[in-house]
Amino acid sequence: MLKNMFKKTYTLLDTKYKKTDEPSVPQGLWRRCNKCGQPIYVDDVKANYYICPKCHGYFRAHAYRRIEMTIDEGTFEEWNKEMPFENPLKFPGYEKKVNATKEKTKLNEAVVTGKGKILGNDAVVAVCDARFFMSSMGHIVGEKITYAVERATAEKLPVIIFACSGGARMQEGIVSLMQMAKTSAALKRHHEAGQLFISVLTDPTTGGVTASFAMLGDIILAEPNALIGFAGPRVIEQTIGQKLPEGFQRSEFLLEHGFVDKIVEREHMKETLASILAMHRKPENAAAVLSAEGAGTGAPSKRAAQRDAWDTVQLSRNADRPTAMDYIDALFDNFMEFHGDRYFKDDGAVVGGIATFKGIPVTVIGQQKGKNTKENLKRNFGMPSPEGYRKALRLMKQAETFGRPVICFVDTPGAFCGMEAEERGQGEAIARNLFEISDLKVPVLSIVIGEGGSGGALAMAVANEVWMMENAIYSVLSPEGFASILWKDSKKAPEASRVMKITAKDLYDLKIIERVIVEDEPASANNMTVIADEIRRGLEEFLAKRLSMTGEELAAERYERFRRM
Ligand SMILES: [Zn+2]
Repeated sequence: MLKNMFKKTYTLLDTKYKKTDEPSVPQGLWRRCNKCGQPIYVDDVKANYYICPKCHGYFRAHAYRRIEMTIDEGTFEEWNKEMPFENPLKFPGYEKKVNATKEKTKLNEAVVTGKGKILGNDAVVAVCDARFFMSSMGHIVGEKITYAVERATAEKLPVIIFACSGGARMQEGIVSLMQMAKTSAALKRHHEAGQLFISVLTDPTTGGVTASFAMLGDIILAEPNALIGFAGPRVIEQTIGQKLPEGFQRSEFLLEHGFVDKIVEREHMKETLASILAMHRKPENAAAVLSAEGAGTGAPSKRAAQRDAWDTVQLSRNADRPTAMDYIDALFDNFMEFHGDRYFKDDGAVVGGIATFKGIPVTVIGQQKGKNTKENLKRNFGMPSPEGYRKALRLMKQAETFGRPVICFVDTPGAFCGMEAEERGQGEAIARNLFEISDLKVPVLSIVIGEGGSGGALAMAVANEVWMMENAIYSVLSPEGFASILWKDSKKAPEASRVMKITAKDLYDLKIIERVIVEDEPASANNMTVIADEIRRGLEEFLAKRLSMTGEELAAERYERFRRM
């Protein structure tokens, strides 16, 4: 009845209603959503993380509301709440405008900073508020963020910044520009001190903030559909007359282009942040929970020795074979996938992220094949592009920063060969991985689960140990390619497979790999539990030994491993 009454009122207003892309939390009891135009009850919006209950559009959350949504009640300690106003350029009318904005918003500046707990995890947080000069970066914003980061470095705490900004503060000119360098420099020191920075991009994050702290997160999260870009759409249109397509510069676009790790809905933000923070706390005496026994010798079974190599090739390529994600799901807990190479794209042929193994945080990366045609198009049949290798390296470097072991699952017919891959430097990307991973100061284990095709496989197998599933293969090129190069006849692939020494047993005997994982029946969803148990025992032994070694010892072990080949 009441609702109907309002409906009538709103119908009358419909002609006057104008849609806008700039949402603000509606005031009063009933308002019309400025995204979908439907009437919404304000209390519903407040109770629903400031999301429209009708269209799921996100209203901009005020800084203190964001803190309420994120920080455990009663734990927030605000820093630098009052900072004296300065007008560095003596800009006419600036002080008056600042005072009016302070009066209107009850904020002192465009960012709120301090320390608090997120589901019990300590963190320093900074939250931008768009109501204050579009949260542009004046010197107080720069100062408060820099101070918060410096104090986090000193107190060995992670930093979370909720970014939202129109860019530079025009009234502060060049002084505003300098805040980009100042905040970035403080984050560099925080990073060098081995501390975590999570950047959360909200609508809109543009201009100088995008070109400084917002894009420097070890992990970059974004709210759905947020506008994120250096030059805003209006600037691009006015400068060079380019019309931008629908969805351009939105979070989803950035995810696809490799600049965002993960899009997180507002209602899941707190638990996601807490989970990431928890996985970045170094566990006390991690090795103590691991058993260094019971893994067996890792030698191949008799059955493996009797199987024809060409049969193994077929098994390694079987569409029913578990993929990297199946192994990740079976072996680890709390897997959180991260996306993107931070340069060009997110490659579906490589998956990676963080997880825990017996409570120990690890980085897991896999070459991912699809299980059907649709998935295979997304996964490019497990053939990584340069951006896939760059994503893998980025995640490994991240693991090194936070002292996490790296476990890689290798399963590729080879690196993608095509024009685009060449244009973006496929050779360079593979070479860079061999170069950088060789010296990584954390344990690296690679397991060939299906096809280990050439350089494309090696780029994720510069490890302290390399294991193979009993029915996996690992080779310099495919038997078909081998036969066609050597004998000008790709039909002689079965013969080639028998002389190439590409099975797990062959490679174990050649001391190219350390362990063969038994497959009593060829690996499939049916025997995944048994297989995972065997890998788990080996992994415990591997980690128990490696977690007691220094970074230098781990790098030296890897160096010697390849040096003797
Ligand atoms: Zn709506």
